[in-house]
Amino acid sequence: QANIVAVSDKRQLTHASISHPRLSKFFLPSGGVASSLSERESTTDLLIRAGFIRKSSAGIYSLLPLGIFIQRKLAAIIHRNMYMAGASEISLPSLLSPNAWMATGRWGNTELYKLKDSSDSEFCLAPTHEEEITTLVSREVNSFRQLPLRLYQIGRKYRDERRPRGGMLRGREFLMMDLYSFDTTTEAALVTYGEIKLAYRSIFDTIGIKYEVSEADSGSIGGDLSHEFHFITPVGEDTLITCDSCDYTANVEVATSYPSEDYVRDASNVAVKYGLAADNTLLVIYYPPDRIVNEILIKKELPTYDPSVENPVSEFTRSGDPMLQRIIRIFDERVSEKSSLPDLPVSVNIGNITTLRFPCVEVAPQSHPNEICPNCNHGTLSASRAVEVGHTFYLGNKYSSTLNAHFTAEDGTKKSIEMGCYGIGVSRIISAVAEITRDHHGLSWPVAICPFEVVLVTKPKTERIDDLAIKLYQDLRKAGCEAVIDDRDDKSFGWKLSDAKFLGFPVTVVIGNKYLTDGRVDVECRRTGHSTSCTPEQVSDIVT
Ligand code: ATP
Ligand code: MG
Ligand code: MG
Ligand code: MG
Repeated sequence: QANIVAVSDKRQLTHASISHPRLSKFFLPSGGVASSLSERESTTDLLIRAGFIRKSSAGIYSLLPLGIFIQRKLAAIIHRNMYMAGASEISLPSLLSPNAWMATGRWGNTELYKLKDSSDSEFCLAPTHEEEITTLVSREVNSFRQLPLRLYQIGRKYRDERRPRGGMLRGREFLMMDLYSFDTTTEAALVTYGEIKLAYRSIFDTIGIKYEVSEADSGSIGGDLSHEFHFITPVGEDTLITCDSCDYTANVEVATSYPSEDYVRDASNVAVKYGLAADNTLLVIYYPPDRIVNEILIKKELPTYDPSVENPVSEFTRSGDPMLQRIIRIFDERVSEKSSLPDLPVSVNIGNITTLRFPCVEVAPQSHPNEICPNCNHGTLSASRAVEVGHTFYLGNKYSSTLNAHFTAEDGTKKSIEMGCYGIGVSRIISAVAEITRDHHGLSWPVAICPFEVVLVTKPKTERIDDLAIKLYQDLRKAGCEAVIDDRDDKSFGWKLSDAKFLGFPVTVVIGNKYLTDGRVDVECRRTGHSTSCTPEQVSDIVT
């Protein structure tokens, strides 16, 4: 028995001494470091050359081990935050039958990949999973007691994108985290929406790349409740409109703005129309005639409104809303100037006015950078390119009513489940982060998602140097830091040092001749380029 114990002890020892990652053991087909990195080399080419990904066909990529490490870290951040948000993980199929898609009218979607099995039954490859999850939940849930539910997965999606581009930025097969929420009431669904949005913020805070949450809908502006998470980068395909004075941020697809006062004061720029809308609301249309007009609906409670007053527009001015006041002030001035405006609707019977409709002018980012913010009413808007990395949607009962996802409420009535859906582009984030953080040395990963936090670069191949690399690996591990040893002996020291920068590990520890001669190593920060010479004992303090 003592013998067996001794043998198993020995095994543990042996195991301990080989249980540290070495780059020589990984499948890391690297194209090597070019003598001078071309500025124009695309980030996708960098990722390929550095051995993170390989292209299969347009918009379809394989991940190699270094790419997988990043994907796993992203997944771990997502899982942790989903757990905190009370969401349960599931896995839905990729091969979907058409019934539910026909019911929701999305079977005709041009991005669907459709296929047939040997008995001629049709399927599609899942581009998203609202239909599938709603069908599943409709079969499982029938009482308010089973709600709320938050279900998510990290899985592959397939979209026949017309223009796949930017490597994994716009893939035809890609990895998405998608979450679906199920609640009993609109109020509860909106609370869920807020909580998931917070969880999404926490995920993006952890990743550590600056992001913007664009308000696809902000309280006063009509439309669906939906927000997008964006990284700002010139390679993005979206345009974000942001205010320099408040937190207004919107995708240009939904952005609204008001023309500046100077623009408005030039009568040739402005046309004004007003009247009663069909739903008995006062309609004031105020627009530059050469621009596209988007109507927005401003809900305004005016309990004190007296329909007999002479000028209903100035009555609105007293309602205290600064944005309305500003528009109406200009409007009133224009009216008092008795310019070419038609007369005000002085004594129309508009009953209890509760809403006031103003149009807004669509922002054309390049031609009008100095638009006035529709939210704070004084900040200036500017446009920037961005990539959509996340999206949150409040769906209401759009899918549940069509797909019969009903439940019996506490009062015995039958109701449709209130839903929300939420997505994060996991593979898109890998390409986007690579793009945003790269520099003239190559890739440069943020600590939160890097394949390894520290690379221990060794040369020459001696027992003393290898022992130190293992010792430092263990010290760092104790300090909560994941390192890898670059023991690729067929490469020169210089090549390995450049490659450490090229692959983008946040910290490089150089264990070379300097250690053999005077017992010192160098610790280099990838992002700042800062290098410190120290004793091996100081390494984990410096790194952490
Ligand atoms: P886009 O506007 O870029 O086409 P989308 O609005 O169609 O994206 P959603 O349906 O909202 O995308 O999907 C949720 C998330 O999945 C997106 O926020 C994005 O991060 C990611 N995503 C969407 N399409 C792709 C794609 N073709 N390749 C990689 N990621 C994608
Ligand atoms: Mg799309
Ligand atoms: Mg989009
Ligand atoms: Mg979207």
